[in-house]
Amino acid sequence: MNEDMIFLVLFFIIVFIGTGIRRYYSYKIEKNSQRLSVRERVVEMIHAEGRIFAVLYFASSAYLLILLPLYLLFPSSFLLFQMPFPIWLRWFGVGLGFLSIPFLLWVHYVLDEEWSITLKFQTDHKLVTSGPYRRIRHPMYTALIVYELSWVLVSAGFLFFVYYVITVLLMIVRIPKEERMMLEKYGEEYRSYMKRTGRLLPHFRRENG
Ligand code: SAH
Repeated sequence: MNEDMIFLVLFFIIVFIGTGIRRYYSYKIEKNSQRLSVRERVVEMIHAEGRIFAVLYFASSAYLLILLPLYLLFPSSFLLFQMPFPIWLRWFGVGLGFLSIPFLLWVHYVLDEEWSITLKFQTDHKLVTSGPYRRIRHPMYTALIVYELSWVLVSAGFLFFVYYVITVLLMIVRIPKEERMMLEKYGEEYRSYMKRTGRLLPHFRRENG
């Protein structure tokens, strides 16, 4: 097996496990609520996060849905869009992928059914502050930033890089909105939670008292 083939196989193993985890948890939240059509989801997201966000979100998801099978079926055509990454960097990506998967699973396991694709609250929504949420407010975004970076590094694919840039931008735009929403609902409880946590990484400021 040549190197490109090895990376292709590893790429799809990483993609398969990570998206499998996310599919499982989205299935869990969907089974409790009424299943929405794509159109209803778009409308819901436009309401919650604005038109530009919704368009970019759904366009990038559709782009990925087309890209993945094309990459699997015609990997050699993707060589055209390959970035000249050294081999060690691609192996580093494999490491990131396999390290971020357990973290992603932990986050999903702890957030469980309070998760949602669009910013919103579930019925009887509870503020989660345990597990990875003890020190980080957005561990799922942290996990995804690392996990999806591994896709870019392992594939060395420029087309995946484009997807990655859009996803990370969307997360960055969303975080302040999400925090405002949480503050509105949980008030002082979230404010004090913010003081002892970091956004994407724990902050190590000493807490007095
Ligand atoms: N930003 C979080 C969660 C992403 S999912 C993370 O990166 O881990 C987005 C949904 O999660 C939001 O609609 C919100 O309702 C919910 N959410 C975010 N932080 C939460 C928390 N600490 N406890 C419970 N629900 C939370």
